[in-house]
Amino acid sequence: MNNEIKLKRVAVLGSTGSIGTQALDVIASQPNALQLEIIAANNNADLLIEQAIKYNPNAVVIVNESLYLKVKKALSNTDVKVFAGEKALCEIVAWDTVDIVLTSMMGYAGLKPTLAAIDAGKNIALANKETLVVAGELITKAAMQKGVNIFPVDSEHSAIFQCLAGEFDNKIEKIILTASGGPFRGKKASELAQITKVQALKHPNWVMGAKITIDSASLMNKGLEVIEAKWLFALKNEQIDVIVHPQSIIHSMVQFADGSIKAQLGLPDMKLPILYALGYPQRLATNYPRFNFTDYQSFTFEQPDVETFRNLQLAYNAMNKAGNMSCILNAANEVAVELFLQDKIGFLQMSNLIETVMDKASFLQAPTYEDYVNTDAEARAMALEYKI
Ligand code: MG
Repeated sequence: MNNEIKLKRVAVLGSTGSIGTQALDVIASQPNALQLEIIAANNNADLLIEQAIKYNPNAVVIVNESLYLKVKKALSNTDVKVFAGEKALCEIVAWDTVDIVLTSMMGYAGLKPTLAAIDAGKNIALANKETLVVAGELITKAAMQKGVNIFPVDSEHSAIFQCLAGEFDNKIEKIILTASGGPFRGKKASELAQITKVQALKHPNWVMGAKITIDSASLMNKGLEVIEAKWLFALKNEQIDVIVHPQSIIHSMVQFADGSIKAQLGLPDMKLPILYALGYPQRLATNYPRFNFTDYQSFTFEQPDVETFRNLQLAYNAMNKAGNMSCILNAANEVAVELFLQDKIGFLQMSNLIETVMDKASFLQAPTYEDYVNTDAEARAMALEYKI
């Protein structure tokens, strides 16, 4: 048997974020399997420079062009190539020296470079769920046409992908996405009205970036993940269930046509799904902490409270409406989270804002790429005009 692992060269888009920084550690820990080829960041030039010196990729891209000279100068004593701008980013992911592109930039900004990578025939390790929420149909069609694989990095979707290994001819009856419930699980709307961003930024199980942590507290993250799952696994809307599992050990489940359910379990650590997506089909050895059943007296489950956490219901509504409605939902949510983090709106007002924009923005049944760009801009403008 040939146990030799082919070295995969990785481009990490969004290398300075929470997933990106963990991905660089994962790649560095697997020198026989993974090699860092490109790192890219939007604005965090200081950390990008530090990463370039520490991990020595072939090239770096700073998307904000005004920071080009700063990065170029800091790396002038190295052989790391420096590029700037979104256009350069879209070109560089097409390099022959890239085998797989990890998309871990935040929000809508992930759409264009992800499409560029797919167009260039590169496999994707997808950590940017918003890409599939905004334009899932377009992305999955493009991937199919180019024969490109999209490997999920989101822990729930990685779990489902792992449960599906060896099951490709077997029908999925449904998938069950688990949710931690976030820091405000069990609270009622009256208690949520006064929530501050400091409270919302404290997730009980996962350490993540600010945007996704707020999305987790509002359950919008689970709504986005439902839509992400629909496109990743070609599911009908009614095949996707959500169950709250506060221990975050079962990362998600698949129920097959015979009624049998497979689950994937592990400690909540994003390094695992990152490693599985980059290493697939191999399971690369690690010395990460192992799960111990006797540390957990019980696993519990409950229905999500969609009346209190309205964002989850709004995401279901957007998915059922189809067309560009999930793009509208995403744009309104990105603005809502930003306004909440700036203390300009309250926790519950995020849902009011999103619902208002979903009612008002122009609905399109069969959007093109340009339509998505326009929809995103229109929905953001409406969201910014929203008055409490
Ligand atoms: Mg997730």
